Amino acid sequence: MTKKKRVFSGIQPSGELHIGNYLGAVKNWVELQEQYECFFCIVDLHAVTQPYEPEEMPARVFDMALTLMAAGLDPEKCTIFVQSHVPQHAELAWLFNTVTPIGELERMTQYKDKASRQESVLAGLLNYPVLQAADILLYQAELVPVGEDQVQHVELTREIARKWNGRFGEYFPEPEALVGEVRRVMGLDGQAKMSKSLGNTIGLLESPDEIWAKLRPAVTDPARVRREDPGNPFVCNIFSLHRHFSSPADIAWSEHGCRTAGIGCIDCKRRLADNIIKELDPIRERAMELKRHPERVAETLERGAEHCREIASSTMQEALARMGLRGGGPKVKGR
Ligand code: SF4
Repeated sequence: MTKKKRVFSGIQPSGELHIGNYLGAVKNWVELQEQYECFFCIVDLHAVTQPYEPEEMPARVFDMALTLMAAGLDPEKCTIFVQSHVPQHAELAWLFNTVTPIGELERMTQYKDKASRQESVLAGLLNYPVLQAADILLYQAELVPVGEDQVQHVELTREIARKWNGRFGEYFPEPEALVGEVRRVMGLDGQAKMSKSLGNTIGLLESPDEIWAKLRPAVTDPARVRREDPGNPFVCNIFSLHRHFSSPADIAWSEHGCRTAGIGCIDCKRRLADNIIKELDPIRERAMELKRHPERVAETLERGAEHCREIASSTMQEALARMGLRGGGPKVKGR
């Protein structure tokens, strides 16, 4: 039997997921777990590179784990764990720091963007992609499902693997980015990417009433001022959400109805709300079940970390030995 390829991906512990995270990443992960040996990591060490409240972090991590499981990640099929529960991530990142030129880090688009908005830039922000390289290579992962904005970081991971291998011998694979089909999910304001900080999201665990309350006032094609004005569905975010959640028949209904003013925006949104609710219903039910049994989430994370620490420890042993570290002291003549 051929060995399954390893997949690694991480997600920040932002608490509950929204449908943008779901469509852009997690739905794809649920499929990948059927085919590959997958490691899904809640990256709390990455999260602390931004301002945060320490007392909120444990709940953010726990809620993210619970929502991932509710969304369909199955601990029998994949490994779910928390980054800081496996100390080797930080250890390997340090080793990789020693082969990574600062210039490479300074040209990362995400770093430039975030650093330009900060008065004093912390080293953790600059070294963020080095920790990402360690996350991936600690498990010798070959495939990394990411959004488009992270492709540059996977390329840097390949570069770090090459540099390290060049200096200490072939050991780490050069992983490939798996860019999902869903590139960018716009927020309900139709202005920017769906993001919790912008308040333009629909949460994955929101109730039918909450979903409708958010969709009802959402921005549509501004050309449709009155009910009888025809619109262009391709400039409307409601239509793009239909394409993610609705059947081909409903998508065609929305497109035709919009162009001919045969339907009103409220009809169009109501049909979308029904379709979103249908897809999210089982996820919300699983989440409620897990909330009644939080020990299942805690056990999953514990088991996940244990499994990861085993793999990570063997990677570190090899990496350290090749770098001439932890060698047990100098050889003494005659011994
Ligand atoms: S009918 Fe639907 S697709 Fe057209 S503008 Fe209204 S909400 Fe958007």
